[in-house]
Amino acid sequence: MSEIVIEAKELTKQYIKQKAVKSASFAVKKGSICGLIGPNGSGKTTIMKMLGGLVLPTAGSIEIYGASDEKGLAKARSRMSFIIETPYAKEALTARENLEKQRIQKGIPDKKRIDEVLELVGLSDTGKKPVKAFSLGMRQRLGIANALLTHPEIMVLDEPINGLDPEGIIEIRELLKKLNREEHITIVISSHILSELSLLCTDYIFIRNGDIKRMLTADELKKECTECYYIHTDNDPIALAVLNEKIGISQYDVDKNGGIRIYEKLDEIRTISKTLYENGVIPLELSMREANLEQYYMNLVGGDTNVELAESSELSDKT
Ligand code: ADP
Ligand code: MG
Repeated sequence: MSEIVIEAKELTKQYIKQKAVKSASFAVKKGSICGLIGPNGSGKTTIMKMLGGLVLPTAGSIEIYGASDEKGLAKARSRMSFIIETPYAKEALTARENLEKQRIQKGIPDKKRIDEVLELVGLSDTGKKPVKAFSLGMRQRLGIANALLTHPEIMVLDEPINGLDPEGIIEIRELLKKLNREEHITIVISSHILSELSLLCTDYIFIRNGDIKRMLTADELKKECTECYYIHTDNDPIALAVLNEKIGISQYDVDKNGGIRIYEKLDEIRTISKTLYENGVIPLELSMREANLEQYYMNLVGGDTNVELAESSELSDKT
């Protein structure tokens, strides 16, 4: 079994007016790339800030490298790097000059570390170029270089891909994969767009309105997204109960427009219609559908985009 490096138990943050995180329990495995995914306002940043000790939980506990008391956590956090707000860099300075400033501020005696981190993030040859002439992707890489100065074993990155162009997304994705693979850094990364992280993460935590909706591995997600059964009946609520109680199906969701999607492998599709009939439900449609990632995500966490947009091929054909 993989070693757990971070464990949150019933983590809760109540701000004056609202509960941003509601009793969230999750674990991060050593060596994993764990994606925290949910729409804007779902509590991702608050969770990351609590992990970093920047926000105090109202209730619940955090254990990092086995420590959960204040002193132990402070020590454990020194083995981590956090990029939570947009990384700050002096615009007029070069990448190297910015890192040199940070090295001194952080009290790192090893001057060679600057060359190492510049090399790691692929900014070695930016020479005299000031940060103001950097692309957003380069700025993010500089932020990552800065976070790497202290040889972190865990990196926590809040939406580092937000706002990047497709090329920038690939750049950062490949960089994070490399840091995970070659430097053995465990990564916790958030995004409100699942597809941005789908080629990167080994584990996923889906969050909505401060609630953790689902936790699963990349393999499990892939399995669930390859295909699904779609059932539409004359009485979907009863159909749901029948599927649950008589056939024992637990992996399903209800489409906002009606109908049920089942993400489990079913050997005998006929059993479904027969069992539904026997229980007084008439199936109107029973078909196999390709489930795409975005559709799966929208059904799970909802969000600003409506479901029709994610699943209507007519719409995507028009655009
Ligand atoms: P996300 O990062 O997923 O967009 P946040 O963790 O930033 O979500 O926010 C979760 C909820 O908590 C939001 O509704 C937000 O308005 C609220 N919130 C965040 N920070 C504060 C704060 N300092 N004071 C009050 N409410 C906050
Ligand atoms: Mg946020």
